[in-house]
Amino acid sequence: MAKQKFVYFFGEGKAEGDAKMKELLGGKGANLAEMTNLGIPVPPGFTISTEVCAAYYENKQKYPEGLEKEVLDNLTKLEKVMGKKLGDPEDPLLVSVRSGAAVSMPGMMDTILNLGMNDKAVVGLANKTGNPRFAWDAYRRFIQMYGDIVMGIPHDEFEEALAAMKKAKKVELDTGLDAKDLENLVVEYKKIYKKHTKKDFPQNPLDQLWGAINAVFGSWMNERAIKYRELNNIKGLKGTAVNVQSMVFGNFGDDSGTGVCFSRDPSTGKNEFYGEFLMNAQGEDVVAGIRTPEKIATLAKKNKKVYEQLLDIKDKLENHFRDMQDMEFTVQQGVLYILQTRNGKRAGAAAVKIAVDMVAEGLIDKETAIKRVTPEHLDQLLHPMIDPKALKGIKPLTKGLNASPGAACGRIVFTAKDAEEWAERGEKVLLVRKDTSPEDIGGMVVSEGILTSTGGMTSHAAVVARGMGTPCVAGAKGVSVQGKKVVIGEKTFKEGDWITIDGSTGDVYEGQFPLISPKMSKDLETFLSWCDKVCADSVRGNVKGFLVRTNADQPEDAKRAFDFGAQGVGLCRTEHMFFDKEKLIHFRTMIVADTEEARKEALKKILPLQKKDFFGIFKAMEGRPVTIRLLDPPLHEFVPHTKEEVAELAEHLGVKPKDLQPKIDKLHEANPMLGHRGCRLAVTYPEIYDMQVEAIVLAAIDCVKKNIPVKPEIMIPIVCDEQELALLRPRAEAIIKKNLEKAKVKLDIQIGTMIEVPRAALLADKIAAFADFFSFGTNDLTQMTFAFSRDDVGSFMPAYEKLGLLDVDPFKSVDEEGVGMLMNWATTKGRSVKSDLKVGICGEQGGDPATIDFCFRTGLNYVSCSPFRVPIARLTAAQAVLRNTKK
Ligand code: ADP
Ligand code: MG
Ligand code: MG
Repeated sequence: MAKQKFVYFFGEGKAEGDAKMKELLGGKGANLAEMTNLGIPVPPGFTISTEVCAAYYENKQKYPEGLEKEVLDNLTKLEKVMGKKLGDPEDPLLVSVRSGAAVSMPGMMDTILNLGMNDKAVVGLANKTGNPRFAWDAYRRFIQMYGDIVMGIPHDEFEEALAAMKKAKKVELDTGLDAKDLENLVVEYKKIYKKHTKKDFPQNPLDQLWGAINAVFGSWMNERAIKYRELNNIKGLKGTAVNVQSMVFGNFGDDSGTGVCFSRDPSTGKNEFYGEFLMNAQGEDVVAGIRTPEKIATLAKKNKKVYEQLLDIKDKLENHFRDMQDMEFTVQQGVLYILQTRNGKRAGAAAVKIAVDMVAEGLIDKETAIKRVTPEHLDQLLHPMIDPKALKGIKPLTKGLNASPGAACGRIVFTAKDAEEWAERGEKVLLVRKDTSPEDIGGMVVSEGILTSTGGMTSHAAVVARGMGTPCVAGAKGVSVQGKKVVIGEKTFKEGDWITIDGSTGDVYEGQFPLISPKMSKDLETFLSWCDKVCADSVRGNVKGFLVRTNADQPEDAKRAFDFGAQGVGLCRTEHMFFDKEKLIHFRTMIVADTEEARKEALKKILPLQKKDFFGIFKAMEGRPVTIRLLDPPLHEFVPHTKEEVAELAEHLGVKPKDLQPKIDKLHEANPMLGHRGCRLAVTYPEIYDMQVEAIVLAAIDCVKKNIPVKPEIMIPIVCDEQELALLRPRAEAIIKKNLEKAKVKLDIQIGTMIEVPRAALLADKIAAFADFFSFGTNDLTQMTFAFSRDDVGSFMPAYEKLGLLDVDPFKSVDEEGVGMLMNWATTKGRSVKSDLKVGICGEQGGDPATIDFCFRTGLNYVSCSPFRVPIARLTAAQAVLRNTKK
């Protein structure tokens, strides 16, 4: 067997790796190699593969044999290419040691710059470059990073020493310190190093190199990296790679600088070169948000040639990778270098716009576009914004950068820890800080929004907030955090005060504002129409389409869902129509009535009310199918419980409460969820369903007469045996027929059933004989399959999840193994007797991406979810089709 290769060189226009090798070289390493091959100016270096990281953890943190030699050989090669040697007292080579896994984890792992610096090299570098200030700055940065990352010395201590030096010299910025100051700072830094490690700062560059490599591999398993992977559900990676790369210096002087740029605007998606930079600074200064950087366009004024070269490169990279690129660059004495490129993270609006634009530009096809937008992106677009009416005449306190879109209101907290504690108590919090760093991640997750006073669009706060879809205003100069107080504009706020931020505009407001949900943009409509096409073209069973319907009980819900692109109503629950105060009294009258006549009398009063609601829903759906479920909940829920309710009903009936009470007592059930509910109500009181069916037909007839297209479907719940349907279906058919004939209207009204009792799923072939369609009621089906009471899971589900007894909450995402087996069986059995049986899902899980994928695989024809989830479901449904359909 050939010897395993651990290290991959890149430099001088060719590389041993390429962009396809992300798994092995990490995203950063693979793209450094690819850029090198493309002839883009990348400082040479080499990448130690992710397999070494995996081996390191498998083998009690020891490296595989042969690694050391391979690293040293590549170092020698690098020294040759650069014409410099690591640690050389005359003309030292300096390198960066950078982490990078296959999936980008921004700011989650550690990078060390200027490695190779020591007491001799610093002098050599100062002489060689004629720039002692730069040499000492590089050294002090190296001690700080090495101390912090490799030795775990709190970086605050270094920062304090730096601040003290600036104070003593009465300068505001780091750039105000001269060579001598920095030399003195190095002395201070070494003292800090020694105090913590009891050792002198390592002078041997090879010791430094291995210390740094160890630290990068070590960072793979640090808490924040683990937490990041957990939060982003990143699994199955081998580890991080380590990139050792020759340094270029943006802190060389005023003709040098460093920056981050995007080939398109990552917030809006506009096809405009976007980015920011700092002159005379090293990479991490931009990302850390210590100084507020300048807009990329101003680089044209500082160095036109470099700016134009950068424009060329961003076009070249975008065309090459066919996606928006996020690039790091450094200019050393007027010479441009690219240090990183990757497909840029983007806000939801940008994701959609870029996808739509790139299709129009011919860069990608529609399928690729659909795959690139995530449910989270759309979720952001459907984020609330401040009600413009409430904003009328109100001035913001201040304005910062619109770093992550959406509006948020919350109570001010100043630390991530406080954010977590407050959120735990159920408070809505808004994290207000000077800047954020990776250890704040836990607090950022629970915050409604994030406001920072420093840093740019690529600061940690901005990048992480965009990734999480949390609204963020960054770099707000009018914000000054002072301990447990903050001045915003002219006003001082304390912890717990309410503020509102608008991450789409950058505005910050005092107090709480009503938030409203946004409208769909034209780009989003276009994009989702592509998704719909994919869904409409797919065939499941013998029926065309894998569609997204909605759960809507009221005309307004139906209208909203229609606007969001729902292809029908998958579930219209009718019980709310009974709970309505006006109707409830009639229904209560019905359930305590002694005779059929009295029951009919009471139901008559409800009929026109139901009819009106149905008409509204039919109208809103403009001829798309509307599945109406006949009355489902336990009778128990309608029974008057309190004294007042009993008194009210008694008065309505003109009887004494004490005479009414025994009848009510008789309706009591020990186990209502398994009791008198669903179609069992119609077995005992057929008049109820009769009335509902009549209301449906009459509403449909009204539509036909008004030229409104209509497609009602009647759904019978809680069926467990085909005999129930054999009894109820003909009754419904008779009512439909009678009313249609009377009105001289022709209309096809399907009658189907919910599959939500396990027995019904098992006997689906028998049931299918009486049903035009199936709809899986996965709330009850899950409840009855697990024997988990939906209303009581709170008492044990957290423990199940914590102990890993269940991977996912089966009420959020369908349990594929168990419940899914029943769904699969029922679909197959049902279609075995009725090949064109339409099958859908109407449980709460219907909007969950994993469930949607499962439903597609199982052969369902539609999913149904709440109106707000509809756009996301349209995307995930199309993605499921693409993912599971072989070309
Ligand atoms: P991250 O993954 O956190 O972005 P990076 O490895 O990209 O970490 O590096 C952090 C910063 O250091 C970036 O701004 C990067 O451009 C800069 N940097 C890394 N390597 C070099 C180098 N060889 N020369 C100059 N700057 C570098
Ligand atoms: Mg980077
Ligand atoms: Mg149910």
